[in-house]
Amino acid sequence: MVGVALLLLQAVVYFGVMSALLRARRRFGVGLFVCALGVMHFLETYLAAVFFIELPFGLLSPGSTVLFSGKLMMFLLLYIREDAAVVRQPIYGLFIGNILLVVLALILRLHTPVLQSPADAPNLGFVDDMGILMVWGTLLLFIDCIALILLYERTSRLFKRNAVAAAFVSAAIVLTFDQLAFFPVLKWTSGVPFSALTGGWVAKLGAAAVYSVFIWIYLRFAEPDRESRAPQKLSDVFQTLTYRNRYEDLLKRALTDELTAVANRAAFEEACRDWVARPAPDGRPVTIAIADIDHFKSVNDRLGHAAGDEVLRRVAGALGSHVRAGDRIFRYGGEEFVLIFRDLAHEEAMALSNRLRFAVEAEVRADDGKPATVSIGVATSTYGAGELRGLLQRADERLYEAKRAGRNRVVGEPLPS
Ligand code: GH3
Ligand code: MG
Ligand code: MG
Repeated sequence: MVGVALLLLQAVVYFGVMSALLRARRRFGVGLFVCALGVMHFLETYLAAVFFIELPFGLLSPGSTVLFSGKLMMFLLLYIREDAAVVRQPIYGLFIGNILLVVLALILRLHTPVLQSPADAPNLGFVDDMGILMVWGTLLLFIDCIALILLYERTSRLFKRNAVAAAFVSAAIVLTFDQLAFFPVLKWTSGVPFSALTGGWVAKLGAAAVYSVFIWIYLRFAEPDRESRAPQKLSDVFQTLTYRNRYEDLLKRALTDELTAVANRAAFEEACRDWVARPAPDGRPVTIAIADIDHFKSVNDRLGHAAGDEVLRRVAGALGSHVRAGDRIFRYGGEEFVLIFRDLAHEEAMALSNRLRFAVEAEVRADDGKPATVSIGVATSTYGAGELRGLLQRADERLYEAKRAGRNRVVGEPLPS
């Protein structure tokens, strides 16, 4: 019990100080955080190799449980709040620094040291063991880190941005791998018993759980929003990680209308291109309906532009919540929405459009309580060939007729006689 409490205390102190340094990067740069991580690396590896405690589930090393797992989780946090371009700095730095240290220690052996007293004889066996452990440890750290970030990306999508679950599952997997990969080398250099394998594993899973909660607290309270950073040029494995995120984000934003959150005109143009590029006409009917808000200018004039924006949002919401799954809706222009329906005969498309019109009239009110209405022009192509833009042109002509006939109505194409 005391052992667990002490481990927890160490984790709190570790995470508290390191996350404070991380938070301070906006003022002082990321150097404080990175330097603190680096300076702990040597003793952390040493303690992971020699300092063990006994708990009911086996032998474990606080250096490995608290410090090593903690370091990995700090890298994950750094990635979440910055990006892969920043995380790779300390990882590469630690790895290169360790190799440099080993190389320098090898050269240093060419000296003939002067002994002050026999008791001061340098322990070169220790230096060898530590050198091996540190190089192996940082190589694993490098692999762990990439795996952790990739897993986190996948699991956070899976768990719908639930950071605790995503961080825990990915850390548990990576730390399991790490334990299996680090232990044989530890056994070889330090001769630790096998109960340290399972004990250390259970401890690392515990650490993954505790740190995941800490990360959630940090993301929730200490640094809730991600500030955007200027892009940098990269050319290594971390590049894809960094730019995939940004690219997907950008792509989504580029095709979404900011005001109403439905797809925008650019998305419609893309749909037109996809349509033309289809492998073959499939013979399924396609309908385009254009909905234009009636007398929208008067909403702006009566209540102001902001109230007009709100009506736009509400109309988009009403249309969006009454279309079928798979139907598409775009904000085509100022107060015009384009809808694409598949697999409906023209009369069915007319009926759906009428339901949309009723929904707007029933559900959308301007701030002064007046209902908003839409006029809708509908055109269907039953041949599957043809072109969306041509269909849009036909629907637009029907919309014009609907306006002329008095608004708040749906006009479709005359049935062929
Ligand atoms: P009609 O029934 O003939 O469609 O009349 P209308 O007033 O809706 O038609 P018109 O096309 O003349 O006016 C559209 C107005 O929509 C003009 C413009 O000020 C307004 N508008 C366009 N985009 C936005 C927007 O993003 N926000 C707001 N608040 N108004 C917009
Ligand atoms: Mg209008
Ligand atoms: Mg208009």
